[in-house]
Amino acid sequence: MRRVHGRTHRPVLARAGETALTFIGHSGFFLQTDGFNVAIDPNFASWLYLLKRQRRPGVRVQDLPAVDLTLVTHAHFDHLHRPSLRAMAQASRRKGGRPVIVVPTLVKDLVSDLGFSEVVELGWWEEYRHGELTVTATPARHWGARVLKDHQRGFGGYVLRGREMSLYHAGDTAYFNGFREIGRRLAPELALLPIGAYNPPAFRNVHMSPADAVQAFLDLGSPTMVPMHYGSFRLSHEPMDEPLKLLAEEARRHQIAEQVLVMEEGDDLWLARATPRAWLEQGQKIEVSNAPTFFGPASYTILSDVEHHQITARVEIPARNAPQAVLLRLRHPAAAPIQSVQVNDQPWADFDPARELVRLIGLSGVVTVQVVY
Ligand SMILES: [Zn+2]
Ligand SMILES: [Zn+2]
Repeated sequence: MRRVHGRTHRPVLARAGETALTFIGHSGFFLQTDGFNVAIDPNFASWLYLLKRQRRPGVRVQDLPAVDLTLVTHAHFDHLHRPSLRAMAQASRRKGGRPVIVVPTLVKDLVSDLGFSEVVELGWWEEYRHGELTVTATPARHWGARVLKDHQRGFGGYVLRGREMSLYHAGDTAYFNGFREIGRRLAPELALLPIGAYNPPAFRNVHMSPADAVQAFLDLGSPTMVPMHYGSFRLSHEPMDEPLKLLAEEARRHQIAEQVLVMEEGDDLWLARATPRAWLEQGQKIEVSNAPTFFGPASYTILSDVEHHQITARVEIPARNAPQAVLLRLRHPAAAPIQSVQVNDQPWADFDPARELVRLIGLSGVVTVQVVY
């Protein structure tokens, strides 16, 4: 598994065409994509009643830009934290925003007085469109009651799809057969999956163990998984450092270690790798230098010659913190499958024709990749 260290810092602001995901901690994320700022289950609390937070949140509310859209997966206190949501809504308004919040069915009453401009309730598989973004509520195996007698409240996860990326936040859930359907219907590229609160064993009726989460990830068929819901609050009996250890073992066993990305609080994951389809029209040339990536700044040039069924890329492999593998996604305007690939003028076999992905392994310096469609 790949890992870097966390810290509290100001989020780095994404530029046009860039997507960045910042880990707030626990199940909280801040996403910048398609020009929108999105928060998911944001919780900045130092204490949840008697539970002291064990790790600092990765960002502070006052350092966030105006948040356009907030998604809350269910009414449990570690996910729907009213003081965090109120602080975020008010800060967003002061910065000129009109913050919208999306919650499951029958959860509106818990957030309607917090300063959001609009509250949207979604049932499973219902959609909400916000500019270029589409939010789809997804099923889960969990429960929604915040106190004792409010079992009517909905719960679940969300798939968020924009022009640049798609992301699945599972909320809280046990392993269930719904992951396969979520993968089939919505095919999210990045899966944020909970791995903590599985001990005592009865908790696995409502939460996933790391092994369950790996199975869920395999069911989804997503390229990348980011684990969450561990390390911040002592919600259960397992040692705080156990979920990541078990996840590493399971990921190795299933040979998906490279697809599991462990973020620490304050980490930014830059998803600038996907090239917007619209840019790859006939004769288009893209030159990007110093694009921030997870591995340090990267530079690349992409030349699209669709008439001759070719896309050529020159990629400078980041040197500061060299990745073992670079995934290059060269999307044909008509989504045509890749026929063949050459890397530095030699035939290259490591590519996925349908997903238009080329895997560059063990390379350094400037690499030329030529893809024929
Ligand atoms: Zn929960
Ligand atoms: Zn939870």
